[in-house]
Amino acid sequence: MRDPVQFIKEEVRTLEPYSLVSQRARIKLNQNENAWETPQQIKEETLRRLRDRVWSRYPGLRTSDLHERLAKFSGWKPEGVIAGNGSNELIQAVLMVTAGKGRRVVINEPTFALYKQISTVLESEVVSVSLTDNLTYDLNALRRSINTVQPSVTIICSPNNPTGCIIEQSDLISLLEETHGLVVVDEAYFEFSGQSVVPLLEKHSNLVVLRTFSKAMAMAALRIGYLIAAPEVVKEISKAVLPYNLNVVSQTAAEVAMEMYETTLACLVELICNERERVYSELQKIRDLDPVQSRANFMLIRSELPVKHVFNELRRRDILVRDISSYPRLQDYFRISVGTPEENDALLAALREITRDYE
Ligand code: PMP
Repeated sequence: MRDPVQFIKEEVRTLEPYSLVSQRARIKLNQNENAWETPQQIKEETLRRLRDRVWSRYPGLRTSDLHERLAKFSGWKPEGVIAGNGSNELIQAVLMVTAGKGRRVVINEPTFALYKQISTVLESEVVSVSLTDNLTYDLNALRRSINTVQPSVTIICSPNNPTGCIIEQSDLISLLEETHGLVVVDEAYFEFSGQSVVPLLEKHSNLVVLRTFSKAMAMAALRIGYLIAAPEVVKEISKAVLPYNLNVVSQTAAEVAMEMYETTLACLVELICNERERVYSELQKIRDLDPVQSRANFMLIRSELPVKHVFNELRRRDILVRDISSYPRLQDYFRISVGTPEENDALLAALREITRDYE
C-alpha cells in the first residue's frame, strides 16, 4: 500500500494546522470578538431584506452593490475593493497571486499565524523579522530585511495580533517606498486604534489593506472581510477569489451594518476602547502581572506566575482567555479580549485572587 500522504507537499506535512480548541465558557475572552452581540436593529433589518431578495439565483459575480457600499464606507473606489468570505479568504487570495516557490514573504514575529501558514503551503520562503523588545515594529530591521531578501510581499498587521502595536504612518510610507513588492496591511482591528492607512492608497499603488466584519462590526459568524487596493492590483487578486464567494445572507448583513454603523456599532467600539484603558490600568495594580499597552480590543499580559496555571485557574472560574505562550518570545504571556464591563470586572477579580493565592 502506498501512503497517500507522501503526495502532499513536504512543506505542508511539516506544518501544524491552524487550530483553536473550540471551548465554551461563561466569559469568553479568547478570540478578540466584539464583546456585544450584533445589535438587534441590524439583525431585524437584514432578515426583512432577505425575505425580499432572490434566493434561487446566483448572487452577482462582483456583488457590485456591496462593493460600492464598502468603497463609500472606507473612502475608496468600488473598482478597488474585493469582498471576501472573512478576511482570511483574502489573505489567502493575495498570497496565492504573490507567493510561491522562489519567492519571499516578509512577516513580523510574533503576529497572526495564518500569514506564515498560507505562505508555507504555497512553498514561499517566509522571512520573519522580530518585533523590538517592547513588542513594537522594528522599522530598521524591517527595512534591512526588505533590502536583503527583496520580498514579493511584506505583511504588517496593524494593530498587530497578538501584541496590539500599530505601525506609524511615516514608517509605513518608508517601507512602501523602499520595497519593490506589495505591502499588505491587515487592519482587522483598525476601528479600535482610531486610525487607518487607507488614505495612503492614493499615492502608493503597492499598498493592499485588509479589513473584516468579525471584530468591531460584531459579525464573526457571518464571515465577511474586504480588501482595498489600487484597481489594477485588485483586478489581479480577484483572479484567485472563487466566484460567488460571499453568500447573499452575509452580503445583506454587511450592507445593513454599514448603513447603521454610526447609530449602533460606533458607540460599542468607543465603549470597548474605554474598557481597554480601564482594564489596562487595573491590571497594572496587580502584583506579578504586567499588561502591554494595546490599540486593539485585546491585550497581552506578562505573568510572573506560570501561564498555564493562570489559564487553568481562569478556566476553573469559567473564564476563557488565549494561551499564546507557544508563540515566539511570548512564553510568559497570555492574551485577553476586552469584554463587557461586567466580564472585565469578573476577569480582574479572578486575576487578583489567582495571583494572591499562588504559593
Ligand atoms: N487578521 C487578523 C489579524 C486576525 O486576528 C483575524 C482573526 N482572528 C483575521 C485576520 C481573520 O478574520 P476573519 O474573521 O475576517 O477571517
